Amino acid sequence: MGILTQGYLLQGLLIFALSAVVIAPLLLWLARWRPAILESQRRRERLNDQSMRILSSAVEQSQSGIIIADCAGVIDYVNPRYTQITGYSKEDAVGRVAELLNNEELTDVNNISLQEALQLGASWNTFMVSKRRNGEHFWQQVTVSPINDDLGALSHIVLNIEDISDRVETQAQMEKLAFYDPLTGLENRRLFRDRLEQGLKHLRRSKKSMALLFLDLDQFKRINDTLGHDAGDELLCTVAQRLRDCVREEDIVARLGGDEFTILLADITSADDAGLVARKILRSLLEPVTLSTQEVTVSGSIGITVAPEDSMNASVLMRNADLAMYRAKDQGRNNFQYFTDDMNIESLARMSLENELRIAVANQDFVVHFQPQVDMARGRICGYEALVRWRHEQVDVISPDRFIPVAEETGLIIKVGEIVLRQACLQLKALQATGISDQTVAVNLSARQFRDHKLVQMVRRVLAETGLAPQWLELEITESMLMDNIDQAISILSDLKALGVAIAIDDFGTGYSSLSYLTQLPVDKLKVDRSFVSNLPDSPRHTAITTAIIAMAQRLNLQVVAEGVETEPQASFLTGHQCHILQGFLFCRPVSAADLPEHMLRMERRFSPGRDAGAAVLTH
Ligand code: C2E
Ligand code: MG
Ligand code: MG
Repeated sequence: MGILTQGYLLQGLLIFALSAVVIAPLLLWLARWRPAILESQRRRERLNDQSMRILSSAVEQSQSGIIIADCAGVIDYVNPRYTQITGYSKEDAVGRVAELLNNEELTDVNNISLQEALQLGASWNTFMVSKRRNGEHFWQQVTVSPINDDLGALSHIVLNIEDISDRVETQAQMEKLAFYDPLTGLENRRLFRDRLEQGLKHLRRSKKSMALLFLDLDQFKRINDTLGHDAGDELLCTVAQRLRDCVREEDIVARLGGDEFTILLADITSADDAGLVARKILRSLLEPVTLSTQEVTVSGSIGITVAPEDSMNASVLMRNADLAMYRAKDQGRNNFQYFTDDMNIESLARMSLENELRIAVANQDFVVHFQPQVDMARGRICGYEALVRWRHEQVDVISPDRFIPVAEETGLIIKVGEIVLRQACLQLKALQATGISDQTVAVNLSARQFRDHKLVQMVRRVLAETGLAPQWLELEITESMLMDNIDQAISILSDLKALGVAIAIDDFGTGYSSLSYLTQLPVDKLKVDRSFVSNLPDSPRHTAITTAIIAMAQRLNLQVVAEGVETEPQASFLTGHQCHILQGFLFCRPVSAADLPEHMLRMERRFSPGRDAGAAVLTH
């Protein structure tokens, strides 16, 4: 045996020894642990089965619709929720190509097409409208996920479908509520404001102009009060439609609330264009509207402001248009006015007047002046009209013509009216205490007071508190207050009459009175307006009106008073035509309670020069 053979032998022995030492225990260990390994393998398989079962039942019961399609897009599986959402059964779907997978134009929120996403092995997500089996459309959120095989090739596609119609609907509704007027469907104040801001931004870049129109319906409250809120709502919807019809598609029409509308004419070449639109709107509003069975006509007042000429600030433009609208109302309604700078000054003055009026009401800074009414047939004072004056620190006295409209608008008139009524009743009570027993006091009521549902209650309370018997109190209302709503007026007047007070119609002849409605009204007196009296006896028109009013009053058995009598010829014309009660500067200006006795004496002397004037007054 050579050295070489001995070497191999040694090597073989060494390997054998090593195997005995290392491999044998390994084999032994393996033999010992084999059952455990097998067991673990089985357990893993069991787990796999179980998780497959769990997974498939999760897919089956999922609240999302699930489609599994092969790599060609042919549907292998759909879960029950898919059937619930779409109406398509397993049988309908399996074997067909999922339509969505064939649509090559669809992109997701990141503008990636479905095919691109699948190639990248990425999920893809989109919102889209789809059709149920019954034809109904619904909103769905779709997530598409690729499933790759072990080699990384696309093997299946899973589509996950959520029916989000309810969510979309709610969101749409919420958006609608937040930005649109629920009654008319027009944009609301918030959205309009946004559009205005956007419009102004756009305007900075262009050379065009933009007009903002502010429309307020005239006497809308009257329609609402008379015909009810449903009719009012119907009218607002009609107006909304008419406004839309009067402007171009790209113009914006909004309802700010109540009967206030705004219109944005986004692209005009001159302010005159806005005037043309305003004219068109006013004309279209005048078309009669039938509400339930009643035909009514409304008109509107429009304020116009133009950007950039008037301002480039949205708030300022809104205020400008509002001020111009008020000017249109002051001009007799049913017209439009452009904003001018003097409106700002006027509004500032008005605002401070309003604030000061509030303070005056709190401090009761009002005095009542009395203007005697003379019974010419008997030659004596038969009553007084109470006329309010605002005692102002700086201005001395502010006339009612200036502050009553502000008091009306702010509602402060209710308090002012009560102050006047109380002072008037107390003053007559004081006169009665001196022995006068046949003179009345007339107190003016404003429109807002007349419609105040606490009016009757307030008059009753003041009479009780001052102790004046109701037959000495007369309430003056104007014709227009009655014409607003005849039925309601009759009912209020009847309640007042039931208290025992008398009713006079003031400024008679300036409204739209007709004999037919006069006969229905429970009134006692007509006061011929001073605009007719002032033109007596020369103006044939005014003499004709005055004599007609007197004749009408006589026929209806009403008393008639002429106010604003300034001259002897006026007085003799009136008495000559059987109007015996006169009131005016000819006899006496309105005077304070303190000055009244002196003026009464003077007047009594004038009527009965021979008599002891003081005694004459006091013994009436
Ligand atoms: P009115 O009720 O028609 O009152 C008559 C007005 O004519 C009074 O003006 C009076 O001073 C004025 N007047 C009287 N005689 C003559 C005359 O001969 N010539 C001329 N040119 N005017 C004469 P006044 O006091 O400024 O009141 C104006 C209006 O303010 C009243 O018109 C009435 O509508 C309203 N008013 C006055 N006091 C009150 C009040 O207490 N409450 C309410 N709601 N309104 C009042
Ligand atoms: Mg009056
Ligand atoms: Mg009058």
